[in-house]
This record gives sequence, structure tokens and C-alpha cells, in this order.
Amino acid sequence: MAACIFCKIIKGEIPSFKLFESEKVFAFLDIQPLSHGHSLIIPKHHGEKLTDIPDDQLSEILSVTKRIAAASGATDYNILQNNGRIAHQEVGHVHFHMIPKPNAEEGLGIGWPAK
Ligand code: C5P
Repeated sequence: MAACIFCKIIKGEIPSFKLFESEKVFAFLDIQPLSHGHSLIIPKHHGEKLTDIPDDQLSEILSVTKRIAAASGATDYNILQNNGRIAHQEVGHVHFHMIPKPNAEEGLGIGWPAK
């Protein structure tokens, strides 16, 4: 989708710190990280909500997310996927957050903090 910021990141029209790319999946560091290593894993197929994404892309995303979490060295982390405005989805292209928690005692709270 031409106006979608994540589609532009996939195409390289907006710079990002790329972590992974395959035919169907793209991953990069979040520009406003909640912790060091906060990553976003996204389908290349444009879709706003989880239900818009084909199953084969979703299964690869989960696998890539697991590998990125392992590569980050984090033992504790959250995987988060917001659907819809009320659920604090700000970018209308499905994305999975992988948020390392360097200090499990500190915590990030339940859910996604409003910005
Ligand atoms: O789940 P939600 O839609 O709220 O999260 C969007 C995420 O996309 C934010 O964490 C924001 O920092 C990130 N982002 C980014 N690069 C951009 C625009 C947004 O990493 N150019």
C-alpha cells in the first residue's frame, strides 16, 4: 500500500535497521524502543489486522520472532501484537513487537503503554 509507512520501510524508501528479510517477512529495530533490542517483525503482505494476513506468513513471523529473540540474548521478553485503535495499534500494517526485558523485576506493565 503506497501510503503505508511499514510498506515503505520494506521497500527501503524509509530507512530502518534491518534484522531479517525473506520473501514473506521483514524485521527491524523499533525506532522508539521500549528496551534495548525492541524489534518489529512484519509480514510483507500489507494487511491492517491479524485476520488480513495469510496463515503461512503468520507462521513464519512467529518462527522469525523466536529466532530474533534468541539472537538478542534476552531470556525474558514480551511478544506483543496490537489490533485496532482501542488496542493501541498506531501503524495500520500488522506487526509483532519483540520487547526484551533486561530486568524482569522492573517489568513493562501489562499491555502496551499509551504514548
Ligand atoms: O503497535 P503499535 O502500532 O502501537 O506500534 C507501532 C510501532 O512502530 C511503535 O513502537 C513505533 O515506535 C514503531 N515505528 C517504527 N518506525 C517507524 C514508525 C513507527 O519503528 N518509522
